[in-house]
Amino acid sequence: GMSLLLILVIFSRLWPRFTGIQSNMENIAGSISALKALMELQEECFKAQELQGANGIDGGAIMPLKLEQNLECQQVYFRYDQHQPDYTLEAVNVRIPANSMTAIVGQSGAGKSTLIDLLMGLMKPEAGKVLVDGKELANADLLSLRKSISYVPQDPFLFHGSIRDNLIMINPNASEEQMWEAMEFSSAAEFVQKLPRGLNTVIGDRGVRLSGGERQRLVLARAILRKPSILILDEATSALDTVNETKIQEAIEKLKGRMTVIVIAHRLTTIRNADQVIVLDKGKIVQTGQFGQLSEDKKGLFNTLLGNQLQVAL
Ligand code: ADP
Ligand code: MG
Repeated sequence: GMSLLLILVIFSRLWPRFTGIQSNMENIAGSISALKALMELQEECFKAQELQGANGIDGGAIMPLKLEQNLECQQVYFRYDQHQPDYTLEAVNVRIPANSMTAIVGQSGAGKSTLIDLLMGLMKPEAGKVLVDGKELANADLLSLRKSISYVPQDPFLFHGSIRDNLIMINPNASEEQMWEAMEFSSAAEFVQKLPRGLNTVIGDRGVRLSGGERQRLVLARAILRKPSILILDEATSALDTVNETKIQEAIEKLKGRMTVIVIAHRLTTIRNADQVIVLDKGKIVQTGQFGQLSEDKKGLFNTLLGNQLQVAL
């Protein structure tokens, strides 16, 4: 609808800045996950409109919404193709309390990303409700919701420029102190400090190559600089060594209780301390509970997923 159009318009405007940065961006127009990455850029554009005093599509006046009680799904049904009999999400009930940490796990294709898209209001359920503090959001409020969410994709989006440029693109007024504070939270400070040029280090294309984990920690810092009410982290799957895995885990720990954190967890060790773990299987929630509880259920899917990972690790 309207917001898709908006994002596409913004994207086409920003495109020249980003061409050649990432080879896997070709499919961008049709890809929701790319749209989520672009939510951050959308924010930048709103900022630019405000600075110019222009009355853009949202007038720059939309305030972020603050999650105070719960983000919920009630009996949600969703399918991408209404001619297909099978639902991608079926009878899904989720309650995510404000400032809690929730992990969503399940095999590839289980519906984790789809659930996130619905919670962010990027797509609408065919039946059932998505509620923010008990209310179904009207279209205008969805923009507020999106403004309050920082989404860190699995494949982080950094452009060719300095680390500083990459950090302040969302929040041009951020002070150096705030940048370091955000990087402390995301466990990025330690590696940035070691770079000879620190914040001025040029990354991307012809710049310093960062590892997947470092990129994710940096994008996490950028997400934190926005002071989101809700932080969604699609944890990196492959190419994360144990050190980086621990760092991401530390980062999540530091954020716990400060904002609502939702992690799509691929590494089950990173979610040991989640307040709740939601296990999805073929679009249905098959288990919900804390890590310890779930792993005690020997017949449960969670235990199987855990077992698979241990085997891989050995
Ligand atoms: P997960 O994130 O758990 O791997 P997804 O939510 O991405 O799972 O996908 C759930 C199911 O929906 C999969 O079968 C996937 O192929 C399908 N799917 C995901 N995105 C789309 C789309 N844009 N169009 C059609 N089917 C999709
Ligand atoms: Mg996914």
